[in-house]
Amino acid sequence: MDYYPMFARLQQRPVLVVGAGQVAERKVDSLLQSGALVRVVAQSLSPLLQQWCEDGRISYLGEEFHADMVGEVFLVIAATDDSALNQHVFQAAEAAHTLCNVVDDLNNCNFIVPAVVDRGALQVAISSGGKAPVLARIWRQKIESLLPQHLNAAAEIAGRWRSKVKQQVHNMGDRRRFWENLFHSRFDTLVAQGDVAAAEAELASQLHGQRSHTGEVVLVGAGPGDVGLLTLKGLQALQDADVVLYDALVSDDILHLIRKDAERISVGKRAGNHSVMQEKTNELLVQYAQQGKRVVRLKGGDPFVFGRGGEELQVLQAASIPYRVVPGITAALGATAYAGIPLTHRQFAQTATFITGHCQADGSDVDWPSLALSRHTLVVYMGTINAATIAAQLQQHGRSADTPVAVISNGTRANQQVSTGVLSDLATLAQNAPSPALLIIGEVVSLQAELNWFSAQELVCA
Ligand code: SAH
Repeated sequence: MDYYPMFARLQQRPVLVVGAGQVAERKVDSLLQSGALVRVVAQSLSPLLQQWCEDGRISYLGEEFHADMVGEVFLVIAATDDSALNQHVFQAAEAAHTLCNVVDDLNNCNFIVPAVVDRGALQVAISSGGKAPVLARIWRQKIESLLPQHLNAAAEIAGRWRSKVKQQVHNMGDRRRFWENLFHSRFDTLVAQGDVAAAEAELASQLHGQRSHTGEVVLVGAGPGDVGLLTLKGLQALQDADVVLYDALVSDDILHLIRKDAERISVGKRAGNHSVMQEKTNELLVQYAQQGKRVVRLKGGDPFVFGRGGEELQVLQAASIPYRVVPGITAALGATAYAGIPLTHRQFAQTATFITGHCQADGSDVDWPSLALSRHTLVVYMGTINAATIAAQLQQHGRSADTPVAVISNGTRANQQVSTGVLSDLATLAQNAPSPALLIIGEVVSLQAELNWFSAQELVCA
């Protein structure tokens, strides 16, 4: 370890900043936010620093740096464009055993400043030991997206209750488990929703041993496959989950994002009887939540679009289990975007309809006349098996046999495959398409040849 990591308390401590340009301004700003008493020495002050000086927020020591200035402060930051002066400041600080950082000059630093993800009381500092600050910044951005905004509120509440918890739970191990359970319980959701009073009530009841820590179920839409299409909330839920029940449609890349020690259960419906599988899934959701676990029910695309998400929530509602929903990008939106088919390009379509292809064999339960209207895009989920019926019915109800169509398989994934043709070819295109696949019917498909930006693997069928 080249550097010893620590967080310094600067409240009411004098700090010296040498230099008063833009870099110095940034440094002074963050020092002031930490409550430091900032003294500046520089040839001249920038307008902002001048203003802060007039407002009494900083004090100006004059133009000349003197070595004895460093002996009276907690730490020194040098940010001038005069490297000889910067070095002189560092040498003076070293002689006085004072912490000193010369900005962007690792050789003249005895401490370095990390990239920080700031959630109030909770801070994450990242350093590359001065070797690759840009790398540290890239990781800061990634961590920034992972850490929910409500962490500060959670830490503030914990801070308020810390001594009370200590009084009630004497054993250190028990105390650690208490806090771990709390942060993994519904308490976290209540804080995230901004309901501090309910969060504190939950904390109090857990503290009084009422084991009220009910679990909860988060219904998460995983999107159509490309891992980048998962939402930040979806990612956070996967990182927090104790148990994840996932469908066969969810891509492996997304499964890799589940917290490593979480239990994973495949409730894929490919094998076996659908309704039995669904009942078993409902039972598992209720059972795990009743054990106090944080359960994620992970579904392909969006949970409410042909995903039975609503039915699962009704079961949870009946069992009084708290739940949340994190929407996902549904296949119709993801797959057409990646195939270059704008669903409602105004030159070609005014409406788009999403339907399931699992209609009756003769199609008698479907309003074909309205689906067959022109200037209208039809997206069929689960449509490959009935593609012949769908194409025949649409033509019988007036849709032209040469209406452009596409079949998109594995939309948004590396193995995405798009085949295009006309309505009279639909059955053949669908028959040859790997699953999962969507059927797109409508004039907008004619744009695909021009706007196809993602895959080089189209199979164009004339
Ligand atoms: N809830 C999901 C849909 C589940 S129904 C969503 O919102 O996307 C399953 C059907 O979705 C599949 O039969 C297929 O028609 C479609 N589908 C799901 N993922 C797909 C993908 N990556 N590419 C093409 N079609 C997909």
